[in-house]
Amino acid sequence: MALMPSKGLSREAVLKKLEAHRADDIDWRSGRVFGYVFDPGHEAMELGKEVYSMFLTENALDFSVFPSVMHFETELVAMAAEHLNGDGEVVGNFSNGGTESILLAVKAARDYSRARRPEVKEPEMILPITAHAAFHKAAHYLGIKVVPVPVNAKTFRADVDPVRKAITSNTILLVGSAPSYAHGVVDPIRELGELALKHDLLLHTDACVGGFMLPYFKRLGEPIPDFDFSVPGVTSISVDLHKYAYTPKGASLILYRNKDLRKHQIFACSHWTGYTIINNAVLSSRSGGPMAAAWAVLNFIGDDGYLEIARKKLEATKKIAAGIEKHKDLRLMTRPDMCMLSFTSDTFSVFHLIDEMNSIGWYIQPALTYENSQQNIHLSINYSNVEWVDAFLEDLYKCIEKVKPMPFGELGAAVKAELGNVDPDTLTEETFTQLLGMAGIEGSSGLPEKMAEINEILNALPAKFREFLLIEFINNLFRYEKKEKR
Ligand SMILES: *Cc1c(COP(=O)(O)O)cnc(C)c1O
Repeated sequence: MALMPSKGLSREAVLKKLEAHRADDIDWRSGRVFGYVFDPGHEAMELGKEVYSMFLTENALDFSVFPSVMHFETELVAMAAEHLNGDGEVVGNFSNGGTESILLAVKAARDYSRARRPEVKEPEMILPITAHAAFHKAAHYLGIKVVPVPVNAKTFRADVDPVRKAITSNTILLVGSAPSYAHGVVDPIRELGELALKHDLLLHTDACVGGFMLPYFKRLGEPIPDFDFSVPGVTSISVDLHKYAYTPKGASLILYRNKDLRKHQIFACSHWTGYTIINNAVLSSRSGGPMAAAWAVLNFIGDDGYLEIARKKLEATKKIAAGIEKHKDLRLMTRPDMCMLSFTSDTFSVFHLIDEMNSIGWYIQPALTYENSQQNIHLSINYSNVEWVDAFLEDLYKCIEKVKPMPFGELGAAVKAELGNVDPDTLTEETFTQLLGMAGIEGSSGLPEKMAEINEILNALPAKFREFLLIEFINNLFRYEKKEKR
């Protein structure tokens, strides 16, 4: 039997099937999920949804046909520029996510440098190890060499010295985060800015997650380091709206200090037989929904609304951080600048703790060891989590007692002993199957219930090895299987 029904189903039947598919999704409405969903409260969320559908069908491909979307885009950019201390020269565009904004910034940097320094054949971008994976993706897509540099071992902020030392005649772009996703700390953007100016380099501030909230934290009296256009060397900033501006997903902005830089982001094509292409962003045809909804939510919540959200989140973050610092088996990796933090333990497996918390309805995120950042639990604290802070800490403490007797590190050590010396370039599907066996997973289809063993194995292996395994895993996972019927 073919998969596509020969006759269309009824509206009710379709909706029923869709609901059934939702059964295994995490219940983000519970307030027990730290990450993934940014819920501004019922009213703002409903407005976002309504406006999203209202402009769903409009195509942002062509602003001459749909000038409404250009209006939303330019106004959103202007609002963000104001928010981030930009002057009248600052320009920017809407993209459908932080990754896309970063991709665009790196592309603009590449092509700006190509135009001015054609002698640079192998352009390099210097990345503190805490910079978001999206820069590695951009480098991978755009043919840029990543030059990784270590960060401060205590604060996890970028260190200026290693960045300075990494500058070569091929360097085109420096990057700092405000804040970094993993540890929630703002890099020394002012010092990086001085360095960029001195060497005539571009500097991108990745404020994807912080650009919207940090100015509010600052207004609430937090000592937030300068990170925006008030820093002379900063040439571009990415800021997501679909994170802490609480707009529906598919909404981010990329801002440039001036039009001269932004010009290199734009793509036009007349080398074909169809319509004239002129694209500000990566996608061509795209829905007007995300930008219209973003415009609506920003206007609906307003400055005082965001300040209030920030106040509550700040309070919740401080309470959680204090609750972690107080527990003798936990260690806060560093004091964060944002409502995001990471913590770890030296006495038990954080991966088991994550599974245990998950089994009673909490979602907290694992992060693997990388360079001087050991395996940890990351929390992105949200508006919807605020009233659950006490319950969270209580359950966390309880779960810690449960996982303390569980294995801690043995599996990782076994994996290291067996595979630690294998050259990641020689990996095959057999290695993959062997590791699944060690993790106690039968066959290779479906998602496992418990993640601790998998995380432990990944954690023990070098990054390149992990990437091989993840690609192998996903390549096997994303296949339709007939038996899986609903
Ligand atoms: C979330 C995030 C990104 C990537 O954004 P997406 O919208 O998930 O593509 C980039 N940088 C930082 C610091 C982030 O937190």
